[in-house]
Amino acid sequence: MKIICIGRNYAAHARELGNEVPEEPVIFMKPETAVVLHRQPFFIPDFTQDVHYEAEVVVRINRLGKHIEERFAHKYYDAVTLGIDFTARDLQAKLKAKGLPWERAKAFDGSAVVGTFLPKDKFAELNNLNFELHKNGNLVQKGNTSNMLNSIDQIIAFASQYFTLKIGDLIFTGTPEGVGKVEANDALIGYLESQKVFELSVK
Ligand code: MG
Repeated sequence: MKIICIGRNYAAHARELGNEVPEEPVIFMKPETAVVLHRQPFFIPDFTQDVHYEAEVVVRINRLGKHIEERFAHKYYDAVTLGIDFTARDLQAKLKAKGLPWERAKAFDGSAVVGTFLPKDKFAELNNLNFELHKNGNLVQKGNTSNMLNSIDQIIAFASQYFTLKIGDLIFTGTPEGVGKVEANDALIGYLESQKVFELSVK
């Protein structure tokens, strides 16, 4: 299983980190070992002093595919949820400055939180999904998939030109503005269309 992640897919988030809005999707990957197991806490790694949450809609692939056309992309996923793309922002800044790959800052153990999947048929319009991340009872990120620069189907069409999609692969579709730091003892709750899909403690 692999996790394909899209960066800078919301213009307001690209700007808040001082990045240009990209002309093509920005893609990176996380390995299977990045997933935080169900009901486990997120442990802040000791190589970073600045871990950020990035709440993102996550899509689950349910069909093998390569070179998928955008108009058929909806046949390749069956479920959606909310997740967190945890990022060691200080390490990422160092790597970015040197033009190096981001993996150490983005793909470490525990860097991918995946909520409970909901069947995509439950939602009338996947390009208009509301989601929220709450930290210690306060709303910290609020997004809607209509603000994505590349839709789920466009991401699948683009990514599958390079990578064969397999059953069980996940796609993290990018985060809206409002990313921020987590500290030990924080409690994070994710909602997709008002449904709680994960609850996570930080250690
Ligand atoms: Mg992200």
